[in-house]
Amino acid sequence: MASQTAEKPVSPIQSEVDLQAPGKQIGYLRLPHSVHRSAYGWLPIPIATLACGEGPTVLVMAGNHGDEYEGQILVSRLIREIDPQWVQGRLILLPMANFPAARAGLRTSPLDDGNLNRSFPGDPHGTPTQLIADYIDRSLLSQVQVVIDLHSGGSSLRYNGAALFAQRDPDTRKQEPLMDAVHAFGLTLAFINESPNPVGLLAAARRHGVMGLLAELGGGGEVTPSVLATAWQGLLHVLGHLGVLKGPLVPPAPPHSSRLLYVHRSKHYVYAHDDGVFEPLVRLGDRVVAGQPAALLHFPAHPGRDPVQVQFPAAGLVACQRVPALTERGDCLFQLADDL
Ligand SMILES: [Zn+2]
Repeated sequence: MASQTAEKPVSPIQSEVDLQAPGKQIGYLRLPHSVHRSAYGWLPIPIATLACGEGPTVLVMAGNHGDEYEGQILVSRLIREIDPQWVQGRLILLPMANFPAARAGLRTSPLDDGNLNRSFPGDPHGTPTQLIADYIDRSLLSQVQVVIDLHSGGSSLRYNGAALFAQRDPDTRKQEPLMDAVHAFGLTLAFINESPNPVGLLAAARRHGVMGLLAELGGGGEVTPSVLATAWQGLLHVLGHLGVLKGPLVPPAPPHSSRLLYVHRSKHYVYAHDDGVFEPLVRLGDRVVAGQPAALLHFPAHPGRDPVQVQFPAAGLVACQRVPALTERGDCLFQLADDL
């Protein structure tokens, strides 16, 4: 890894926080941003560290996609509520990783249309989103043992409660501790997939030999208190399990026993093949069979035209559903999952 990146220049992003210092520090990563209203300005990406003594270093981040709010709340709460004396090692906390996107409440950055989770390993000469990906990749993942990335369905999707994604590690010595961490997180559903998106954070983590856990917490552009409560307990429990957190916040048990599932790259995704108005015919959490009607797409601009029925291509559990009714060809309507 080092030989691959050694010749790259230093990131233009500068941390106000000394990532190696003990105690609690809260500040910003300064991303240089020279624009009409601010020639020598920078964008403030919030960051905090909590460090005490010897132990693992864990990165917990949210706001990878800016319209996913549950994780932004949870990471901010970790920053406020953890006494650094309860830490054994170091927590690096990034509540709004793609800050321009999170400030705007958008999945992608309004500055460059960048989708941070499709931007790894990033580019130190690139756009703001590419700069952030490069900083996370080279400056943060290079010094952590575990990364926890908190997502949700965002504005366009909703997950069935709280779910966790992990990528199966071909190295069996790493797979066992990964599964232990999945169960320690204790979210209702746990998706164990084969191969990571090559430009996503989990692939970047794997390149660094870092254990990666990605949570999908509700969504729909809103915050669900029950999902938030489950995720908070799971997050604290897995941090305790990883050995980086002790003390009164760590619950004695995970919130749930996780149901292990997998999501197939193609057959578990249901797409719209027309522009229309989406009417779901099933509910989140339903068990469906192959060929079962999934949705109707209506065409109110052509009231004489019958709606088109969309069918499930495979059997499975309805894990995730589109939120907005107005739909275009190519939009994802459902994501299924099936037992491992
Ligand atoms: Zn996301």
